[in-house]
Amino acid sequence: MNIHEYQAKGLLARYGVAVPRGGVAYTPQEAETVAHELGGPVWVVKAQIHAGGRGKGGGVKVVKSEKDVKDAAKNMLGMQLVTHQTGPEGKEVKRVYIEEGCDIARELYLGMLIDRAKGRLTIMASTEGGMDIEEVAAKTPEKIHKVWIDPATGIQPYHARNLAFSLGLRDKQVSSAQKFILSMYKAFTELDASLVEINPLVVTGTGDVVALDAKMNFDDNALFRHRDIEELRDEHEEDPSEIEAARHNLNYIKLDGSVGCMVNGAGLAMATMDIIKLHGGDPANFLDVGGGATRERVTTAFKLILSDPNVEGILVNIFGGIMRCDVIAEGVVAAAREVSLNVPLVVRLEGTNVDLGKEILERSKLLIESADNLGDAAEKIVRAVKEAS
Ligand code: ADP
Ligand code: MG
Repeated sequence: MNIHEYQAKGLLARYGVAVPRGGVAYTPQEAETVAHELGGPVWVVKAQIHAGGRGKGGGVKVVKSEKDVKDAAKNMLGMQLVTHQTGPEGKEVKRVYIEEGCDIARELYLGMLIDRAKGRLTIMASTEGGMDIEEVAAKTPEKIHKVWIDPATGIQPYHARNLAFSLGLRDKQVSSAQKFILSMYKAFTELDASLVEINPLVVTGTGDVVALDAKMNFDDNALFRHRDIEELRDEHEEDPSEIEAARHNLNYIKLDGSVGCMVNGAGLAMATMDIIKLHGGDPANFLDVGGGATRERVTTAFKLILSDPNVEGILVNIFGGIMRCDVIAEGVVAAAREVSLNVPLVVRLEGTNVDLGKEILERSKLLIESADNLGDAAEKIVRAVKEAS
């Protein structure tokens, strides 16, 4: 789960991470009030959306009067902010964060995430603050310094000091960075975060180390331990079909392609997307209907897939293990009737009672094409979508 910058800063501040003072606003009037309470002489108005790159897209404005804060908020609120992370349609700005202006001497980068290959938390630091870290990693990997933390011992002060030295910090800056990194680690582990990214981490004119931006992601499987974080969820920022899917316990992720997929099992779902690609198509979604694919679940899944206007065909790929293929076939037929399916549908069944399942599909007289194996299925649906368009 993602949260907004101002929420991340609020959480981090509770653990002693240095952040500028600020306040959130939903209206220009509120923005002006926040500005007045903060006091000047410089304020920064920042659009709150779940995407980075706001600065370049016009979502970060430095202003020098309370009136200008109000005007900047007025311009930002309601706008569709387009950044390299939002896609071309952008995201509507519904709240802004008003923050005190910071005297920036240097912009650095600091990130914390789980390195799955090493099974450890990794801290990454770089002198290339404010840049896209993926780009830094690709072009100048030597500019990223990493340390891995052994979960048995946790972070030690020397880890933080070494990172500070690798960033070229000196004197007071080192102790400021050390406190920052140790506090951030505590926040990360206690809150079950999966990512904390501070880009830029700045060194101020007086040698303090402060978070100017903050991005936090949380491990969804641990959210039950953090009701207060769960409450920070902004559904407006999430895909409506994914929210609907979660309500039905379906694992659904929307993608950009045109072939809707309905599959049981995450591994098979991944393989299905791969093989669609291999045959020249593009999956419209990842969808794992799970082991107990009942008629109701299949219908819900169909509706979900069809609610995506990009879908031009559906591939159902089900392995009948615990579920019998005849039951699944009945579910598919009923669902196709209920939603009055109007795009090509290819079904590949395998497993228990597969012949009976295929017979049910055939007898239905619906425009359902049966496939014998994964490759055959992918080829058929990609061809059907091409012919239909
Ligand atoms: P994004 O990463 O979405 O573009 P940031 O929060 O990183 O947004 O802001 C972009 C840039 O705006 C920063 O790199 C920094 O130069 C400037 N900036 C952001 N907040 C402040 C602030 N409080 N004071 C001064 N400059 C700021
Ligand atoms: Mg940033």
